[in-house]
Amino acid sequence: MHITMVASEMAFVAKVGGLADVVFGLSRELQLRGHHVEVVLPKYDCLWHEQIHGLRSVYDDLSVPWFDGAVHCSVFEGHVHGVPCYFIDPHSEDLFFNRGCFYGADDDAMRFAFFSRATMEFLYKTNRRPDVIHCHDWQTGLIPVLLYEMYAPLGMEQERVCYTIHNFKHQGGAGEQVLRATGLHRPEHFFHHDRLRDDVNPFGLNLMRGGIVYANFVTTVSPRHAEEVKHSEQGHGLRHILNTHAGKFGGVLNGVDYDSWNPEKDDLIPHHYSVDELAGKYGNKEALRDRLLLRKDAKPIVAYVGRLDSQKGVHLIRHTLFRTLERGGQFVLLGSSPDPAIDAEFQQLKVQFNDHPDVHLELAFDEKLAHLIYAGADMMVVPSIFEPCGLTQMIAMRYGTIPIVRAVGGLADTVFDKDYGHVDPQWRNGFVFHEADVQGLESALDRALGLFHDYPQDFRSLMQSAMRHDNSWNHPGQHYVNIYEHIRS
Ligand code: ADP
Repeated sequence: MHITMVASEMAFVAKVGGLADVVFGLSRELQLRGHHVEVVLPKYDCLWHEQIHGLRSVYDDLSVPWFDGAVHCSVFEGHVHGVPCYFIDPHSEDLFFNRGCFYGADDDAMRFAFFSRATMEFLYKTNRRPDVIHCHDWQTGLIPVLLYEMYAPLGMEQERVCYTIHNFKHQGGAGEQVLRATGLHRPEHFFHHDRLRDDVNPFGLNLMRGGIVYANFVTTVSPRHAEEVKHSEQGHGLRHILNTHAGKFGGVLNGVDYDSWNPEKDDLIPHHYSVDELAGKYGNKEALRDRLLLRKDAKPIVAYVGRLDSQKGVHLIRHTLFRTLERGGQFVLLGSSPDPAIDAEFQQLKVQFNDHPDVHLELAFDEKLAHLIYAGADMMVVPSIFEPCGLTQMIAMRYGTIPIVRAVGGLADTVFDKDYGHVDPQWRNGFVFHEADVQGLESALDRALGLFHDYPQDFRSLMQSAMRHDNSWNHPGQHYVNIYEHIRS
């Protein structure tokens, strides 16, 4: 099959969160299964260019209709860790992708509407006719709309779209000008509840809703979350439309790219180790302490790696720091927040604990340090309020770092409590709590710390169970292939 991925992020070159890992990991998996895969991305000025092999301009004359005129674009081609990618580079006064960051501009909806139109125009003009276009999140929600309303009548009738939603919180609210800009026009047609009209803001369009309505199949990133969004507020206003389209909607658990995240050969950690030979993990723990100037002691290290967003349960992340210290552990955090209030809160916490020998807060995005933390920490806390899938708990398990998670979304689908629950003891791989309050968190954190201190052998066995858990792309890769075949028939 020929599959074109279209996304706003991809690991190694443009990463904010899990979306990037999934776009790369799934593309690689499909490629290894013998499919023809290519990824289309914006050519951001802040791309991590050194990760792109053989970058060169391959199409210099892409004229993308935009409002009453057109924007001239170049398209670059290059390989990222073996995956062929196309980067769309518009030459426009709007500087769509030359903002020094990926998201956060007032005109984000217009920037990615442009990207969607440009991608479709690129496929059309260069005669690329993928069997499946797989697009991701609100940024590409217009792709199936454009395909069916505009490009199918021009001959792109065979292409099918799979649309994956990684986060329902961000849906791409837009105004009527998106219709004029992209050439879709006909507000009376699109401002309809069966199409793009937003349920919450009836004067606005919702790009994610467009993706749901027009795609041939819609997925979110875990089976549990697929149920949550249909039956609770976690649908963030899309519950009704998801139920309307329930027949073409389901959850596919994300995988982890086992080549990029592999303690046996990870270039970004100083000591390699495996499930049968764990000694290197303790070398990484010492290296982590050296790197972060933490005291060397027989203490457990509890970590958090991830975006600092209200979704992630910031009050519980904060509480983990205090509780871990109370219980004689060390706490490490790597995260950043575009939200000024959350950022200020953690900056203040960083100042407060600046000289503390058992705490380190790194308020930045740092891929290399992330690897060292996964390898060197003993436990990884993920106390999310909602979590479509969550990768940090799965990556942690791969490195023998015990996840402590709240039972929501993909966390509930991947982490099974050591002491409670119905799964066979051999599948138990972490600690789970239910209520999003400090008592809930402590009920799991205290048990994890207790096991570490009092039953080190059992803690070690739990680490090995976690490492043996298969969170690779193998199963989800097959699941996506089944979906592609289903929508093609
Ligand atoms: P989300 O997609 O909601 O951000 P996930 O758990 O699905 O959360 O994915 C997070 C991914 O981003 C993981 O690969 C994690 O290691 C990475 N990540 C998040 N924050 C940082 C950071 N500050 N520095 C390095 N990597 C980070």
